[in-house]
Amino acid sequence: MKEIIDISLENEMDLVLAHRRSLQVGEQLGLTVATRTTFATAVSEVARTVIEYTDNGILNIKISGNFPRYSIHAIIVFNSDQLFKATDEGFFYAKKLLPDFNFNASGNSYTIDMGIGLPRSLKIDQQKLSFLKSFFNEVPPLNAYEEIKKKNNQLNILTGEQEEEIKIRRDLDEKKSEFISIASHELKTPITVVKGYTQLLKLLKGQYSEKVGQVLEKLDVQANKLSMLAQQLMDVSKMENGYLQYDFVTIDLNSFIKETVSILSGVYPDTQINILFGQNCKVNGDQLRLEQVFTNLLGNAVKYSQKGTFIDVLTELSESKKEIRVTVKDHGMGISKDELDKIFNKFYRLEEVSKSHPGLGMGLYITSKIVSDHGGKIWAESVIGEGSSFSFTIPVHCL
Ligand code: ADP
Repeated sequence: MKEIIDISLENEMDLVLAHRRSLQVGEQLGLTVATRTTFATAVSEVARTVIEYTDNGILNIKISGNFPRYSIHAIIVFNSDQLFKATDEGFFYAKKLLPDFNFNASGNSYTIDMGIGLPRSLKIDQQKLSFLKSFFNEVPPLNAYEEIKKKNNQLNILTGEQEEEIKIRRDLDEKKSEFISIASHELKTPITVVKGYTQLLKLLKGQYSEKVGQVLEKLDVQANKLSMLAQQLMDVSKMENGYLQYDFVTIDLNSFIKETVSILSGVYPDTQINILFGQNCKVNGDQLRLEQVFTNLLGNAVKYSQKGTFIDVLTELSESKKEIRVTVKDHGMGISKDELDKIFNKFYRLEEVSKSHPGLGMGLYITSKIVSDHGGKIWAESVIGEGSSFSFTIPVHCL
């Protein structure tokens, strides 16, 4: 069957559309005025009854058959808890007009199929049917109501497509999260073994040559990097599927920063890290997570600066004395204004570093989450070619 038009039957305005469009189909097919009026009247009779009791009817006008014998059908489907019979008033008249009238009820779903055989003299063929279909696809709306209805339909289709796309993306996102979660856990065990054996070998210093010692050193550095990446992957996965866990304790901020910077200075021997302390404060925080924040900010400051650069770490108590601001300032490549908001997004990396500097774009995403979980804020300021300042705040308990 070739579908020519479909009209949803919701209210009286649709009754007008059903009648006029049925007439038009008859006219386009070349039916006599009497036949097309009979067809359109029968359609109207059924449509009126359906609209009176429901608002979910659909009228389809279709052509069935094969060359050279075709017939036109008006098929109306609707659902109703009310019991309908083929002899009900509107249906009864329609049946009188079109004897090829089939009434079908299945539970609360009803289908009414009314047909008329088309005379051969109309010379219907596939080409004519295709033309008829495209005629009704392109025909201008009969009135403002049909125009709105058409637009509404298009909007509904668009909304449906968008919902489908969102669902596909959500499914993909879930699969990706699951993959990250499994991969990071699987990575953890072999990395721990590699790190363990490297440490063990380092303890045997003196029993191997200097060259082997250098290789071991490199192995240790790379194993630590790998371990940090696996940790970041695991954190991202935790953030997606729940939350990061914290062990909050009271921390003396100045001593904490001094100690952390001293450890990191060992990791970056070519970089000078200066500390400029403001008033000392105690904060409520998770030591390991705050270490992670410093490791990320200082690591980035080193990574995105020239070798032999210096970095400043500054602390400053706010005027309200309610929070402390910690700033990590570098003199490296800088970040453009447009990119500053995006660098805290998951997996976001600047285009210009993607080939030259290793990384996955997870560090600042996790860092910003840790800072916000500590009740603080994080932001960056930067000038291209001059350097960047990453600042974060934490609520304090002053000494
Ligand atoms: P990664 O360094 O692994 O790419 P991050 O989340 O730590 O991931 O950083 C995201 C991006 O922000 C980096 O890829 C880099 O483009 C930019 N960025 C971060 N810190 C700096 C910095 N100090 N100087 C210049 N660019 C930086």
